[in-house]
Parts: sequence; structure tokens; C-alpha cells
Amino acid sequence: MSAAEPRRAAERLNGVRGMNDVLPADEALWQRFEDAVADAMRAYGYRRIRTPIVEHTRLFVRSIGEVTDIVEKEMYSFVDALNGENLTLRPENTAGVVRATIEHNLLYDGPQRLWYAGPMFRHERPQKGRYRQFHQVGAEALGFAGPDADAEVILLCQRLWDELGLVDARLEINSLGQSDERRAHREALIAYFEANADRLDADATRRLHTNPLRILDTKNPAMQSLVEAAPRLSEFLGDESRAHFERLQALLRAQNLPYRINPRLVRGLDYYNLTVFEWVAEVGGAPLTICGGGRYDPLIAMLGGKDAPACGFALGVERVLALLREQDESAAHGAQCDVYVVHHGDATLEAAFGAAERLRDAGLDVILHCGGGSFKSQFRKADASGAQLALILGVDELARGEAALKWLRSASSEAASAPRQESVTLDRIVERVLEAMTDED
Ligand code: ATP
Ligand code: MG
Repeated sequence: MSAAEPRRAAERLNGVRGMNDVLPADEALWQRFEDAVADAMRAYGYRRIRTPIVEHTRLFVRSIGEVTDIVEKEMYSFVDALNGENLTLRPENTAGVVRATIEHNLLYDGPQRLWYAGPMFRHERPQKGRYRQFHQVGAEALGFAGPDADAEVILLCQRLWDELGLVDARLEINSLGQSDERRAHREALIAYFEANADRLDADATRRLHTNPLRILDTKNPAMQSLVEAAPRLSEFLGDESRAHFERLQALLRAQNLPYRINPRLVRGLDYYNLTVFEWVAEVGGAPLTICGGGRYDPLIAMLGGKDAPACGFALGVERVLALLREQDESAAHGAQCDVYVVHHGDATLEAAFGAAERLRDAGLDVILHCGGGSFKSQFRKADASGAQLALILGVDELARGEAALKWLRSASSEAASAPRQESVTLDRIVERVLEAMTDED
């Protein structure tokens, strides 16, 4: 490029639609969420497992089922150009966890309590609470057959909501019974929908003979009354299925955990049996499922493992965070640091660096102002950082062997009075700051 030629602006590149950046302003909330998850999982003896984001496409086709929204139209599948393998970005993590459990023979040591967290990918139409890359946290209790494990994963969710301060998440439960019970119900359903064929939408007509149960999951308002009056699975459950469901309910009641039986609750994935549940909350006035789970006894054998029962759940991280933001504006903003160091520039820089390093040695989070500017503009940044204290290093004070401390967040009783400030000798900075931080707590 010759000097005379004007520099042309490079084309701006944006992220992929439906795939979001998590910006630093949101980090405090994500961190609080992730800490609460790790605490809740530990409290129930669940151990973390990390599986790859990419798996063989057939893993999901086999586990999730061919006639499902996910496999039919939501998967990011591709052929590995280097070796021709059919691969998919994981749309959920249960299949991967079960695959890894089988591959590493984890159940050899007895039942396993596992959890995971990470990004999932589904090619859906992006809208509020629905993205193409989103995050899930989930727990899987592998090798446990009884309703005690179902109750445990549900209680784990409740504890997590409590720990997060999330109010108003409602629990809905249902039983899908066993496959022979569902088959009898399915036949009754097909007969019912066939008798009402003129009222089915295109999706339902297509599913009538492949997956009629999924018609009950319709979001089409025009079909609600039809679906409402359809034969109920509960009428087709045998004694064992009923007993499992009753026992789960008794355990939830004994822990004072309120629930509602939703006979129309089915899960989008085909491998579920017996217990299914969802946690529903209002986001922006509309009900939104934040978490879904249940029992999936057939899955381990379906994926080639030794037959073993299992249950678990997956929650949508973005949806839970949206709820937290809505419920508590202040929850969204966390402090970046404890102390913000304001200084006079070149003449005081060594002292400022030294003080900041000693405060960090003492375990404090410190931002050292960089880039100069007036005290006034530095204090504006100090304020915005959320720091409790500003440490001020001015030329004159330094000459006297002193610095100043300014309280940026005075206790409410003092809020009306002028911000508190005091001088402190250089050798007492760390000690005085630590005292001040404990006073504030
Ligand atoms: P929906 O009926 O809303 O499509 P789903 O049945 O497909 O949900 P699951 O596969 O059970 O959802 O996933 C568990 C949770 O993950 C959901 O309850 C939701 O909170 C979250 N989730 C699912 N898909 C998305 C998405 N595209 N964007 C954000 N969160 C999602
Ligand atoms: Mg979905």
C-alpha cells in the first residue's frame, strides 16, 4: 500500500447467529452460578465428568431417537473432511456421559453419581431463551433403579435453586411407565387421533403413526383442546409403575417439596421411562422450562452397555441466569475488585505498583489504575469498579511517607455524610486495608 492510498476499513466479522459471547459484565453472575452448582453437586456426592463436544453422529441418532426434533432438524452434523467420519456437535450431554461410562467401564465399581456442564448445540430458531449454542448443567445417577434416586436428583435441583436465591421455580412430574404400557396407550392414542384426523396440524399428522406421544407435546394453541381430551397414559400404568411413582411422591412430600402432576408432561427425548419431571418458571411473564429430567433405564443397554437403570436432569444455564437477572437487578453486577489504586503518575508509579503487589500478596483483588488522567477521572473508574476502597498515592503524601484510603461504599448510616478518608503510613497500608475490609463485611 502506497503512503498516498487511504487505509480502507476491514470488513467487520460478527459471531454466528444464535451463538453468544458472555461478556465480562456478566461474569460475576456466571461465576456465582457455577460456584452454586459445584457446591450443590458436592453436597450430594456427584462427581464431575467432562466429555468431548464432538461425538459420532450415530450416538445421538441411536440414543435420542430418529423421530425427534433434535435428530430430525436441530443437529450440527458434518463429515470430517480428513477421514470421512460422520460427526455431530453434541445437542445434549446424557448420551456422551453414558457412552463414556460404558467405554471406561465406570459401572464396574458400582453405581455412579456424575455431573457435567458445558456448551450444547442445536440448530433452532434463535429467540429469547433459545439459542444455537447454549449451556447445560446436568446430573446423572447411573445404576440406581429406585424412586429414591429420582427424588435425590429432584432435591438436588431444589437445593440449587435455594442456593442461587431463585424463587418461583415450580416442579411438575409425571410417569411415562414402561414400554409395554406406553404401547397400549399409544394404540389408544392413535385410535383417538385417527377419529379426529381433521383437527390435526401437519406436524401431528406426520407424527400420528411414527410418534403419536409427541403430539401431546404440541405448542400449537389450536390443538390444545384436542390434546387435553386425549386418553391418558396414567390409565395404562401397571402396578409396578404406579408404585414407583407413588413412592417418589411420598419422598417429595416428606421433604415438603411441592409438586404438580402434569399428565401431559412428556419429554422431547425418546429414551425416558417411569419418572419424568420439569422445573418451570416465569421469564418475562411467560412460562419457560428451565430444567428437565427423569428416568432413562433403557439407554445404557441401547448404547451397548450392560443393562443398568439411570436417571438425571439437564438445566438450561442461560434460562436460569435470565431468571436470576429478572429477580434481582443487583445480582447481575458484581464488584471487579476490593481495592482500586489511584496515583499521581510517573513520580508515584513504583510506589503504587509496590502497594498493589503487597495487597495482592495478602489475598486482595486490586486494580492499579493505568493510563494516567486526573484524580477526578481515576475516582470515576474506581467507583465504577465496585471496589470498597481507593488507595491514593499522591506526590506530597508520598514525600511524607504516607498514602490515603478513601471509602467508596460507606455503610448506609454514613451514606449522607461526606465519604470517609484517612491517611495511613506506607508500612501500615496492608494492615489497615485488611481491617477496613473486615469492618465492611
Ligand atoms: P424445549 O421444549 O424448550 O425445546 P427441550 O425439551 O428441547 O426444551 P431439553 O432437551 O430437555 O429441552 O434440555 C434441558 C434444558 O435445556 C431445557 O429445559 C432448557 O432450559 C434448556 N434448553 C434446551 N434447548 C435450549 C436452547 N436452544 N437454548 C437455550 N436453552 C435450551
Ligand atoms: Mg427443544
